[in-house]
Amino acid sequence: MNIILLGPPGAGKGTQARRLVEERGMVQLSTGDMLREAKESGTEMGKRVAEVMARGELVTDEIVIGLIREKLEGDNGGGFIFDGFPRTLAQADALGALLEEEGQDLSAVIQMKVDDDVLVERITARSTCGSCGEVYNDITKPIPADGRCSTCGGTEFKRRPDDNEESLRTRLMAYYKQTSPLIGYYHAKGLLRNVDGLGEIEDVAAEIAAVLD
Ligand code: AMP
Repeated sequence: MNIILLGPPGAGKGTQARRLVEERGMVQLSTGDMLREAKESGTEMGKRVAEVMARGELVTDEIVIGLIREKLEGDNGGGFIFDGFPRTLAQADALGALLEEEGQDLSAVIQMKVDDDVLVERITARSTCGSCGEVYNDITKPIPADGRCSTCGGTEFKRRPDDNEESLRTRLMAYYKQTSPLIGYYHAKGLLRNVDGLGEIEDVAAEIAAVLD
C-alpha cells in the first residue's frame, strides 16, 4: 500500500510517517530529508539546493523527481509513504508515471489539515534529535529534563535553519500556490482522504489508521 501524506509544513507529516514506519514496516520517502542529507554530505546538488531550501522556496522538479526515482527501485516493505512529495502538479504526474513503471499504484492521499497560526507555533518551537530524528516541541513536547532523547538516548538536538518565521512565510506561500492544487488533482482521482491534523499525535494516528484499514 503506497500513500501520500499531503499538508503544509508543520502539519505533522514527518511525525506520522515515522509512526507508520515503526508500526507497519512502511518505507518513508521524505524528499526534505533526502535534500538535507545531500546538503550535509556536501554533494554538488546539495550545495546547489541549500540556499533555495534556506529561503523556503521549492527546489526544481527535476531534482526531486530524480531523488524519488532512485528510491522507487528499492524494496518498499509494507509500502511507501511519500512525505513532502509531490509538491507540484508536475511532480504528481511524474510520480504516477514512475509508480506505473514499477507496476505499483497509490492507495490514498491523506490530507492533514492544520490552521496556519498553529503551524507557525509548531515550527518555530520545533527541534529534532540529531541521532534518530524524533521531533520535539519547546511547548507541547519538550526535550526530556535529562537532555536525552526519549527514543534513542541521543544528546544532540537540531533546529532546522528554515524553521524561522521568514522562511516559513515563504514555505506556506509555496504550499498554497504550488502544492494545494494537488488536493483537487487527487480528489478527482478518488484518492483524497482528509484527516484533522490539529489533535494529539495519537488521535491523528488513529484517524490515519482508520483510513488505511
Ligand atoms: P520539508 O522537510 O518537507 O519541509 O522540506 C524542506 C525543504 O526542502 C522545502 O522547503 C523545499 O525547499 C525542499 N523540498 C522538499 N521536498 C520538496 C519537493 N517535493 N519539491 C520541491 N522542494 C522540496
